[in-house]
Order: sequence, then C-alpha cells, then structure tokens
Amino acid sequence: MNTSKIREAIGLLNSMVLCGEKHSEQSEAVVKAAIDELNKPYDIEFLSEQVHNAWWEEKKQQGFHAPDDCGWRNKDVLNYKFHKWCDKCHTDMYPYAELPEHIKDYDRVTVRTVLAAIKKMEEV
Ligand SMILES: [Zn+2]
Repeated sequence: MNTSKIREAIGLLNSMVLCGEKHSEQSEAVVKAAIDELNKPYDIEFLSEQVHNAWWEEKKQQGFHAPDDCGWRNKDVLNYKFHKWCDKCHTDMYPYAELPEHIKDYDRVTVRTVLAAIKKMEEV
C-alpha cells in the first residue's frame, strides 16, 4: 500500500479542519487518491511470489538447494525438473511462475490468511 497518498490526505484534511483551509479541486483529488489507495485490491499473485521467494531464501539458509543446482544431478537425464537428486534437493525451489498450481496454492493460502488476519485486526 502506498501510505504516502493516505498520509497526504490526512494532513490536508487536518489543515482543513484545524486551519480552515478551503476545499478545492486539488484537495478533492488528494482525498480521492487516498480513497482509491485504500480500496485497491491486493495483488494475490504478486504477494504469493514474494512469500515464495522468502521461503526459498529460508530453505537455502537451512541447507537446501534447487534440483537444478544439485551436485548429484545427472545431466544426461532430460526431464529432470522437480526431481529430487539428494536429501537436500527441494523440488519446490523453482521460480514462482514455473511452479505447478497446486504448489502455488500454498503461497496463496498464506497470503490470503495473513490478509484476512490483518482485516480482522483492523475490525476490533
Ligand atoms: Zn540435491
């Protein structure tokens, strides 16, 4: 979320209320931009990709690697994608766009759960 647009609108509304600054076409545009920002739907796919990348980084820290980077990989095998060559191969360590839908769903569930939790927090 672009919070600068929201902060700008709050600042403007504040000066209108406290200092009697007059309503104008410009102030209307600032408030409209803030409302649009608040109503903007979240891009679930973008967020899911970020979650996947963070998960990947975490797995790397734990000593896992992508099958493509495995030292045990047999380069003569043509269709090696998603193949586990050793114990430290993780078959989900591919760019988000290359993952099968049922694997992407893990990240989507995480994103939707966090967004729902934030919404719940904001309601209380
Ligand atoms: Zn391996």
